[in-house]
Amino acid sequence: MDEAQREKILAEVRSTGVHTMPVPTPFAVGRINCYLVEGDPLTLIDAGPRSNQSLAELDIHINDAGHRVEDIQLVVATHQHIDHIGLIRTVAERSGAEVAALDKSVARLATFGTSSDSEDEMAVQLMVRHGVADEIANTLQRLSSSYREWGDTVDVTMPLAEGSTLELDGRSLKVLHRPGHSPSDTVFFDEQHRMAFGGDHLLSHISSNPLISRPLDGSPGRTRSLVNYTESLLKTKEMDIDLMLSGHGDPIIDHVRLIDKRLESQVRRSEKIHAILAERPRSAHGIAEAIWGNVAVTQAFLTLSEVIGHIDILTDQGRVQESEVDGVLIYEVSD
Ligand SMILES: [Zn+2]
Repeated sequence: MDEAQREKILAEVRSTGVHTMPVPTPFAVGRINCYLVEGDPLTLIDAGPRSNQSLAELDIHINDAGHRVEDIQLVVATHQHIDHIGLIRTVAERSGAEVAALDKSVARLATFGTSSDSEDEMAVQLMVRHGVADEIANTLQRLSSSYREWGDTVDVTMPLAEGSTLELDGRSLKVLHRPGHSPSDTVFFDEQHRMAFGGDHLLSHISSNPLISRPLDGSPGRTRSLVNYTESLLKTKEMDIDLMLSGHGDPIIDHVRLIDKRLESQVRRSEKIHAILAERPRSAHGIAEAIWGNVAVTQAFLTLSEVIGHIDILTDQGRVQESEVDGVLIYEVSD
C-alpha cells in the first residue's frame, strides 16, 4: 500500500470518528497503532508501551484529535503484549477511564509481574527441553525481564465475554476471541461499518508470530499457538469486512487474500520442516538452525515457537513423532 492510499483510507476512517495514532515502541516491530474512537464513551483502543516518549506522542495525537488524555472514558486492550498494554494503567489513572479486556485475560493482566516471570520460566524450560543451550536460554530470560519496565499491571473493570457486544456511541463492537499470536488476542468487529479492530491478529506487512505462552487459565504447560492461530485465521476469513485496523502497519483491505497467503506459507513451512526431519531426526532448535542458520540469541524463542507450532501440526497429522535423548526432545518422521 502506498502512502497516498494509506492516507485516503485513514482519512475515510477518521470521518467515521476513528483516529489512527502510531506510537513508538522499543521493539523490532516498530510503531504500534492506537485508535481513538470518538463518542460517549471516548474510547482508546490499546495504549502503547510504558515509556515517556510513547506517552508524549500519545498525548499529542489525542490533542490533535481535539481531546485530552484526561477525557478518555474507556480503554480497550486487544491482547496482553506490553507494546499494547504498557500505558493503560497510566491513562486510566489520569482519566478515571474504565478498562475493558477479554474476561479470560483479566487475571493475566492483573498480575503482570508474576505472570511475566512465569512466562519466562516456561520459556527457559521449553528452550532447554528443545535443544537450546542453557546459556542462551538464561541470557534470553535476563533480556526478557529487562523489557518488563515497558509493561505494567492492568486492572480490568469491564471484562468482556467472547461473543458479547461492546456498545460505544452508535457503534457496536462484537468481541471475538482469536487466540494464536497471544492467548488473549481479541478482534472487535463493527458489523455496521464492515470493519474490525484486529490488534496483532493479522498484520499487513509481516506474519504475526504465534508465540508460545502460558495458558490464560493458569494451567501448567504451554499453548498450542500455531494450531490455535490457524483455527482463528479460518474464523476471521469468514468475516464480512472491508477493513481491518491492525496493531502495526497499514490497514488491511483484503483480509481473505492476506489470510490465504499466511495459511499457504504455513503449509510450505510445515512441509519444509517435514523434509528436514526426513533427512535425519533433530530437536526443534536443530530444525530452527537448519532453516535460519545460526539463530541470533534474541530470536531463539521466536524461532523455536514457530518450529514447535509446526511440530504440533505435523504431530496432529500423524506425520512426526517424538522421542527423548538426554533430556532433549527429538523429532523424526513417521510417514
Ligand atoms: Zn504488538
